[in-house]
Amino acid sequence: MHPQAVYLPFNRESLEGKFVPAKGLDVPEAQQGCWLLIQNQALLVTDNGQGIIGALPAGPLPRAFHEKVDHIIHLGLYREVPCWAASVRADCEVPAGFRQESLLPAQTHLPIDVLSLGGLALQAIHWETTSRHCPRCGERTASINGELGKRCPRCSYEHYPHLHPAVIVLVRDGERVLLTRKSIWAKGRYGLVAGFVDAGESLEEAAHREVEEEVGVQIRDLHYIASQYWPFPSQLMVGFTAAYGGGDVRVDHEELEDARWFSIHDLPDLPPKHSIARFLLDNYARL
Ligand SMILES: [Zn+2]
Repeated sequence: MHPQAVYLPFNRESLEGKFVPAKGLDVPEAQQGCWLLIQNQALLVTDNGQGIIGALPAGPLPRAFHEKVDHIIHLGLYREVPCWAASVRADCEVPAGFRQESLLPAQTHLPIDVLSLGGLALQAIHWETTSRHCPRCGERTASINGELGKRCPRCSYEHYPHLHPAVIVLVRDGERVLLTRKSIWAKGRYGLVAGFVDAGESLEEAAHREVEEEVGVQIRDLHYIASQYWPFPSQLMVGFTAAYGGGDVRVDHEELEDARWFSIHDLPDLPPKHSIARFLLDNYARL
């Protein structure tokens, strides 16, 4: 594995091994420490840059957010400081002294450690809001002590945060790479073939299938490079390189606006630097 890959934001290693997840820890009695205030897909940070970690508010929940948050979740310890995720109601105006910073890598200005903590907070809140009722019988669930999981008091069903594996593939042919474009992306931006793993499929099968389905070509020499946790809301992106193995590019217009070969000396606008797509392109473009 390339030595930098594990330090991509959202992977826990990007927190330099100084983060201890809440699982198995006692929840601190006082809700004090640093706050990851999530509103939609953004983090509310302090304007003055003071606080334990850059611009995260520190101490108890800031007064401006009393009665304005729905869930408060203990995430764990970062540099021995308890971190709390809280979901701020969508209709709450950003209070004076705070500003919204997107957690989306294409738009964010946050440093990697804050971005990674924000990603953990986003995922924790997503799980909290989607696991309140038992998926088997509909009863309200309870937290399992010391775990992120939930248990149903009526039918005893237990479930844990769901992660969704997806493959992402850099297809290379000498000095050219096969890039794709979705219509929702910024104008002119191209990225890599990517898609979710189906039930019953290995990662390798998913990579071959996705490339064939999306762009119509065959690949060979598939190699695993690195992975990245992606909290929008809960994917695990598994990154591969592959060599072009034959076939003409045929774009699946249900999924993509365009797909084409680009010379590595003349690449278009690419995905943001915090993403595994960009990591693969920056480090593995040439076959
Ligand atoms: Zn149940």
